[in-house]
Amino acid sequence: MTPEKHTERCDGCGKEAELTETHGNEFCRECVELAATIQKKPETIKRICSLIKSDLHHEQSTTSECGLSVLQDLPEVLDAVRYRTRDRELNTWYVSVSELDGNPVEIFASTAFDRDDHLQSRISNLTTITRLVSLILRNVFLGEVLTLEKTIKQLQRSSRQKNDLPDMLTNVLRSYRRDVEE
Ligand SMILES: [Zn+2]
Repeated sequence: MTPEKHTERCDGCGKEAELTETHGNEFCRECVELAATIQKKPETIKRICSLIKSDLHHEQSTTSECGLSVLQDLPEVLDAVRYRTRDRELNTWYVSVSELDGNPVEIFASTAFDRDDHLQSRISNLTTITRLVSLILRNVFLGEVLTLEKTIKQLQRSSRQKNDLPDMLTNVLRSYRRDVEE
């Protein structure tokens, strides 16, 4: 899978930058490198954290040093199982679940009738559900940190038309972002 690139706020440092999607997060170049180092040398990072007695180390000492041991690397290629299913109006949907060690870590849904007008709002609602559930699953099984920013981003990307339900929720939640200069 080729990572897609675009300019938005980095999930790591919060800077506006060209981002690369890695493992469900979107990082700037610096943070991509940092994340790679953390994944490659978790033991070294942990030791350095305790040696320099960083704030991070103190704040999270109840969970683990630097909170690093909970982070699991998501491989580039995941096994996926596709389910064919129908809703109550007999529209056919395909639900794909990506698995890691037998655990569901991401879920997607699609329909053969993507262009169908009356399905647009249902598609955006289902996209909202699957994007948010995927966020939760990555949190549960991979230790990915949840933030308001990520929640809003997933809602925003689920929207297909102005003022559909995810767009409406995005606009409401946006007012709670504290550190945004808009
Ligand atoms: Zn960054």
